[in-house]
Amino acid sequence: MAEYDYDLFVIGGGSGGLAAAKQAADLGAKVAVADFVKPSPAGTTWGLGGTCVNVGCIPKKLMHISSLYRETQVDAHGMGWETKSSHSWSSMVTQVDNYIKSLNWGAKTDLRSKAVKYFNAFATFKDPHTISLDNGKGQIDQVSAKFILIACGGRPTYGDYPGVKECCISSDDIFWQKKAPGKTLVVGASYIALECAGFIAALGFDVTVMVRSILLRGFDQDISNMIGTYMERHGVHFAREMVPSKFEKTADGKVKVFVKDAEYGIFDTVLMAIGRTGCAGQLNLEAAGVPFHAKSGKVDVNENDQTSVPHIFAIGDVIEGKPELTPVAIQAGKLLCRRLFGGATKKMDYTDVATTVFTPIEYGCVGYSEEDAIKAIGKSNIKVYHCTAQPLEWNLNSERKNDMGYMKLIVDKDAKEKVVGIHILGPNAGEIIQGLSVAIRCGVTKEHFDDCVGIHPTYAESYTTMTEEKTEGSALPTKGGC
Ligand code: FAD
Ligand code: NDP
Repeated sequence: MAEYDYDLFVIGGGSGGLAAAKQAADLGAKVAVADFVKPSPAGTTWGLGGTCVNVGCIPKKLMHISSLYRETQVDAHGMGWETKSSHSWSSMVTQVDNYIKSLNWGAKTDLRSKAVKYFNAFATFKDPHTISLDNGKGQIDQVSAKFILIACGGRPTYGDYPGVKECCISSDDIFWQKKAPGKTLVVGASYIALECAGFIAALGFDVTVMVRSILLRGFDQDISNMIGTYMERHGVHFAREMVPSKFEKTADGKVKVFVKDAEYGIFDTVLMAIGRTGCAGQLNLEAAGVPFHAKSGKVDVNENDQTSVPHIFAIGDVIEGKPELTPVAIQAGKLLCRRLFGGATKKMDYTDVATTVFTPIEYGCVGYSEEDAIKAIGKSNIKVYHCTAQPLEWNLNSERKNDMGYMKLIVDKDAKEKVVGIHILGPNAGEIIQGLSVAIRCGVTKEHFDDCVGIHPTYAESYTTMTEEKTEGSALPTKGGC
């Protein structure tokens, strides 16, 4: 008789949990996964696959692309196209959601084909090796496992504003709402807020972003401010240094927003995008002896992804202090299971993880922001090369004459100008930065960029001809192209 029901039990069938479960099963382990979605306060729920597939990266990117088609139409006008078409929000949502449902189905069949047992149940700890599974319909099972992986991710934070849960939605809802958002207030000013505000506005709706302090905290601030300027020029309103104080429903179903208890405005939709809270607090971790942070809902792990209880691990959005990104969760999950069941030793490396903000102008970056490079290396030890650039097609469109792309390379002067930060604002930045993130991991220097022959005419070729150094108090370079 085996001592435990499973070699590995995974709590959470999202990006990290599914990747880990499949990797472990491929290596011969007996694996089970529990995934359960509690409805959002507005009642939205979804299938297997976690945040990325259902209420994150995938629907967001598809709606971002939908919004880019509008910009492309404007650019196309400069090149002889006369067409002007209309957009249907409900049709977009229907098609996106049908695609998501196919991914949910694919995730289930993937598990089945690898003999991973799937429980559509909410998991909590009964003791350090035993999990209780509540399917929400009165059935409670118990299973035991040698190793347990916490991969339960997080959910949107709402804040404690009176009326917020009754009146507002979050990123858990917006991608599934058939009704067009109409006049929208987005509260928050980071990834989720700016991305949602960007595509909602580009699809033709009146959008205001309520910003508590700065845009995109933690990102390079030159570029964050350029994103703000771009979004403003493309119709997004910003209410700066402001937070709501309460929300009320009007008789006709709209939301009345108050600031300092005075009426600020009435909106069809208020989207809260003020961060996310990990789900660790719901796992009855006390029964397993694993501490968690009550405020962030996250757990601490060591470099082996181990909690303070050696056979209980955690990866992805539920761990404290690491980037909340799908490829990070996937990589950590796969590496962990290769160590547990495949004899491997490689650990997750959280440095130089590239990311992109899609607003709809894209901002891709890897390595340090200028602010972080100054903190880490010292102001006098870094050099910043930069240039403004315009994609070729923008030149033919009079509406684009004030739009500007931008690139920045931050180098360590004392390490032969080793590049420590790469930033790009412009079309397809996500695609471009993915390649450059390999270069930074390989230790690329400014000289490598200079020696590289560019591809003409592309937007990213400007990296190979960048000469201008950013100096204290200097204005941004004005010429288009480096
Ligand atoms: P999740 O994917 O959240 O999966 C956790 C799963 O566990 C969920 O299904 C949850 O319901 C389930 N669960 C929780 N508790 C329990 C329990 N007790 N029992 C059973 N099941 C449970 N990242 C990118 O890299 N690129 C992007 O473009 C991007 N865009 C995003 C856009 C939005 C709007 C959001 C919200 C996030 C975005 N992210 C993006 C972040 C990305 O989605 C997350 O980093 C990623 O999904 C984290 O994976 P995870 O496995 O840690 O958790
Ligand atoms: P973040 O935690 O990054 O940002 C929270 C934002 O809300 C900040 O602007 C913050 O302002 C503001 N805020 C916090 N509390 C309040 C409050 N009480 N009232 C008003 N404003 C407040 O969260 P996000 O939700 O944007 O993103 C979560 C994570 O999801 C990201 O870290 C990212 O890793 C992931 N993600 C990735 C994407 C991608 O890869 N493209 C896209 C979307 C999400 P302040 O600066 O003042 O603190």
